[in-house]
Amino acid sequence: MKYWWLKKYKSLKIKLIPDLTRDVNTYFIMPKHYLERFRAIRESEIDTFSEEDLRILLYTILNHEKIKNNKIILIIDRLLEIPDNFLPATNYSLEEMLEEIASLKENLPFEEKLSSNNVAACYNCLQVFYVDDIKYVNKKGLCLCPYCKNSTLYFDNDFIPMDQNFLRLAKLIYGVTPLGCNFKNLQKIIQRSIHLKKNLDCITIKPDTALFLKDKKADVVLEKEHIEFHLEEISFKKQITSKEEDSVHYIFNECFQILEKNILSKVIIDTSILQEDYTLHLSLFLFLLENLGKNPYLKEITLLYQNTNTKKIYKDILTTILNYQKKIKVN
Ligand SMILES: [Zn+2]
Repeated sequence: MKYWWLKKYKSLKIKLIPDLTRDVNTYFIMPKHYLERFRAIRESEIDTFSEEDLRILLYTILNHEKIKNNKIILIIDRLLEIPDNFLPATNYSLEEMLEEIASLKENLPFEEKLSSNNVAACYNCLQVFYVDDIKYVNKKGLCLCPYCKNSTLYFDNDFIPMDQNFLRLAKLIYGVTPLGCNFKNLQKIIQRSIHLKKNLDCITIKPDTALFLKDKKADVVLEKEHIEFHLEEISFKKQITSKEEDSVHYIFNECFQILEKNILSKVIIDTSILQEDYTLHLSLFLFLLENLGKNPYLKEITLLYQNTNTKKIYKDILTTILNYQKKIKVN
């Protein structure tokens, strides 16, 4: 199922509504004029709604309307029926991914390309979908994403990766974060805020810190001046797809919400929580960048490595990101 993270809200309990609102606001990116669309569809039967409209309906009810539980349960049931379209994670190096991202502006989604492609990806709202879902084209002849109505699309025959890490990286490079940071600002923030350390022994835990540790059972422990998040190892036996990339994001997102609520400014993460896999570590790194760009309290992130391999992974990621000069052609 595509919206697997909605599963825990099936037959929604009232007390979970704030959590649902928070998750929907994290994962759904709305088109500019979604309220107009909402007004046009609000009285229709839910059974007749398309996926795009179901998203608009759920988002708007949670953010702007008096909440009707029964209606939300129906929408969630419909969204849970939508099959997944998870793609294998790319085996591109980060450097190769950045090369491809630079070429996105040379592969514009012109309408003429629709007949020779099957799948499209959007690096604004991170959706991957069949080109048959594209209904709108702008004045320049560029196709618009059915979910966010942006022209930030590319197609399968452009031979550009379509997995979640790639899309999220492209979004960070071309977009602006909720705190108004472009990629250049983010590079400066990374330099200031992200540190690599061998293990916890060489660190004094300061107040206002969230400490992420690997444990056999997930738990949150409130210490006098800091919070400890105990997480089970995140490991997958099968091939890593965009679903596993997403689940790293999801697990850390649950904890980072608590961190933001408690206005904690420092984070220490034992990276051995993740199985030793480049894709999963890159997914965590991108999640941290996204948070530095949206959480105004977050100032310092320390990543702990247990072996030279993981150290190398993070050093490579950091160097590549910091050295990347945007090579984007303006059209
Ligand atoms: Zn989109």
